[in-house]
Amino acid sequence: MKSFCVIGLGRFGSSVVRSLVKNNYEVVVIDTDAKKIDDFKDIATHVMIADATDERVLKNIEIDKFDGVVIAIGQNVQASILTTMIVVESGARNVIAKATTDVQVKVLEKIGADRIIQPEKDAGNRVADNLAHPDISDYLDLSDDYSFAKMKVRNIKFDGLTLFQANLTQTYRVNVAFINKTDGTASIGRHDTKIGIGDILYLVGTKTDIEKFSEII
Ligand code: ADP
Repeated sequence: MKSFCVIGLGRFGSSVVRSLVKNNYEVVVIDTDAKKIDDFKDIATHVMIADATDERVLKNIEIDKFDGVVIAIGQNVQASILTTMIVVESGARNVIAKATTDVQVKVLEKIGADRIIQPEKDAGNRVADNLAHPDISDYLDLSDDYSFAKMKVRNIKFDGLTLFQANLTQTYRVNVAFINKTDGTASIGRHDTKIGIGDILYLVGTKTDIEKFSEII
């Protein structure tokens, strides 16, 4: 059974906790605010009213033993930085920190957080991407240049072709990793996998190639 620690029960932290609990994971939550902790005493596996910037608190709960730690302190930048530093130094795995400003992102990166989330900014970027490219959904940046995207087959010219016949990698420089078919079946993208109108393709490519391909598919 995987267990996680979430520090800070603001809007973001609360939503991470609820989602982990819903998926049956063990979740330990820490917040300085007794009222917030009280709201979660019947939801989380274990709750603690404590200041996470106090090194002893994190040591006592063996913060390095969790499968992941989320530092969801946004507004109090000093507490967010100090807590992240203690968590990283303890040797904890999968350290995810929430940031509210770009400067905070830079500092948290320097400290060594594995992933930094800016919930409002990330959601805003996704909405903008969806508006700009309505044919591409679930866009995920893999690196500065490469992305993973999901899109629907609409062009009749691809209907009934195998991936080998469609030759997408050579012609459009995109690679189909997975297909969800309209008949309810799904498979990884193989040479002999057939594609048809309405199928959902999950593909990898550079952002430019994915955008170009979304206008063709
Ligand atoms: P959001 O924007 O996601 O609502 P906030 O920054 O408003 O996030 O909330 C952060 C939460 O972290 C609050 O519940 C606050 O009490 C808690 N918090 C702030 N500093 C500490 C700390 N040093 N230790 C533990 N919890 C903290």
